[in-house]
Amino acid sequence: MIELTGVSKIYSNGAVGLHPTSLYISKGEFVFVTGNSGSGKSTLLKLILKEIPPCTGRISINSRDITTLVERKVPYHRRDVGVVFQDFRLLPNKTVYDNIAFAMQVVQARPREIRQAVPVALNLVGLTEKAKCYPHELSGGEQQRTAIARAIINDSPILVADEPTGNLDPGTALGIMKVLEAVNCKGVTVLVATHERDIVNSFKKRVIEINSGRIIKDEFEGGYGNPSSYNIFSKSKQRRNFI
Ligand code: ADP
Ligand code: MG
Repeated sequence: MIELTGVSKIYSNGAVGLHPTSLYISKGEFVFVTGNSGSGKSTLLKLILKEIPPCTGRISINSRDITTLVERKVPYHRRDVGVVFQDFRLLPNKTVYDNIAFAMQVVQARPREIRQAVPVALNLVGLTEKAKCYPHELSGGEQQRTAIARAIINDSPILVADEPTGNLDPGTALGIMKVLEAVNCKGVTVLVATHERDIVNSFKKRVIEINSGRIIKDEFEGGYGNPSSYNIFSKSKQRRNFI
């Protein structure tokens, strides 16, 4: 589903975002991307989102090579990959309902489809009661739940979240990760960049740890800073996924 082959990124000022990296993420996986600040987490996610181009290598999403994608096909890629940011990025003058509905309107969904889909998404993120609230009337956690609903409303098969709990207290952060887990249970492939060790350790998901632009660990059911659970089968598991 997500495949990187020899992908690297060096910024124009010479900073290394990512050394040549190959990686395979299967459909339906939940993956934490961890590592210290400046290690390259956002670079990896931005490459997958096609926000920045790689210097070398190939990135394919759903068997589509996004590195050579012609301009008119980029919007299809954007629909395939929903995104959530640390700072929520909601429209301040629209209600929770309208923030989510707006994402469907911009892709020309029919009003009837919108009326059906938005309540389902609100229910999934636990915000049914807050549909009529404006962002400033919500807690940080509620704003992030709204952003998650908006990111998945067009049935994106992939959700990418860059430090989605970076502005939240630990209890709220846990709730947000549970919402992301619920999204994953619906079949969405979820990638979450975070440096919150306690959360990563409590979820037992695949953990890809980056250090200075290199993947230094890739564990299934992993933990942060827990090399004893390194999964020696990860390569054969990845290879199986290609078949
Ligand atoms: P993380 O998300 O793990 O904090 P980043 O991917 O943002 O790390 O950054 C990785 C490295 O790339 C850092 O050294 C950072 O300074 C550098 N970097 C990131 N974005 C840019 C940019 N737009 N221009 C130049 N250097 C950048
Ligand atoms: Mg970052």
